[in-house]
Amino acid sequence: GLAMVAALVLMFIRNFFEDEVMPKAFGWFAAAQSTLVIASGIAFALFAPHAFRMFDSLYYYAFLPLPLFFCLTLYFGWRAKSQFFTYFVVAWTPVIAAAIGRILYSMNWVPYNFFLDNSTLISMAFEAIISSLAIGYRIRLITLDRDRAQHAENMAKALADTDGLTGLLNRRAFVRELTEQKQLCQLMLIDIDHFKRVNDALGHVDGDEVLVRLAACLIEHSPDHALIARLGGEEFAVAMVGNASVMPDAEQLLAAIRKTAMPSGYLVTASIGTADRFIEEELDWKMLYRAADMALYQAKSAGRDRHVHYLRTPARAA
Ligand code: GH3
Ligand code: MG
Ligand code: MG
Repeated sequence: GLAMVAALVLMFIRNFFEDEVMPKAFGWFAAAQSTLVIASGIAFALFAPHAFRMFDSLYYYAFLPLPLFFCLTLYFGWRAKSQFFTYFVVAWTPVIAAAIGRILYSMNWVPYNFFLDNSTLISMAFEAIISSLAIGYRIRLITLDRDRAQHAENMAKALADTDGLTGLLNRRAFVRELTEQKQLCQLMLIDIDHFKRVNDALGHVDGDEVLVRLAACLIEHSPDHALIARLGGEEFAVAMVGNASVMPDAEQLLAAIRKTAMPSGYLVTASIGTADRFIEEELDWKMLYRAADMALYQAKSAGRDRHVHYLRTPARAA
């Protein structure tokens, strides 16, 4: 039992400290030492009746290098400034001191002493309490690390799906969300009219601000579960999925865009093309996008600041 405890303690030390604290060789020597104590313990249990003194000595000598491992652990923990160094010193000093005392006693270098005789039990109980606290602390740190990593991953995912300027979905995320649905999809493309002129008149910084305010206007006038994206440049999209969903009214949206306060009071209008189609795969999305785009183009050529709905759904390509 004691041999097992010693072997497990070595294993514990090796794994409890941060990876970079112990050199690799420490692990190998610790494994050899563990094997030695367990083998000598088993040998003693099996063969002691035949050669008691020899196996008894073998068993005790197998324990002799243990204090060395303790000292090395202290040194490496101190050198790496491990956050578990203090724990190690507090928890294990009494145990190791008791073990050294017992080895000295077993070698007849110190006389019998009641406290020395019971020191293993007392010091191990103390160690168990301190270790429980340390393990709890370690688990807490690991949990915090995991939560941080999870949060960072969520943030990274959200950033990868978001348009940096407006905070709307980007094209990639929008298309992914739509093609995942396998339902009827209503698509609305919104393109700002003569946006080049807006940039020319106000500069690109205010041009960006126009895009941000238009995005806010789209959010304000779309239902909560609408997918809203900036597909690129000054082109936006709103999509509703499912038979029951009601698209925002295009004429009302056009009016809302006209009324949106823009930098320097600039009057911004947009053209809207809409279409719908049952989406099953990416090809359907392409057909739907093409249809809404054609409607948008018609709205542009008919004079802008208006809405056209694409009526004839193009036949699906073979
Ligand atoms: P139309 O009415 O036919 O849509 O004309 P338009 O000028 O809006 O369209 P066009 O596609 O010719 O020009 C789009 C302009 O949008 C050109 C580009 O400089 C500008 N633009 C694209 N992305 C951004 C952006 O992120 N910020 C700003 N400020 N301008 C952008
Ligand atoms: Mg435009
Ligand atoms: Mg455009």
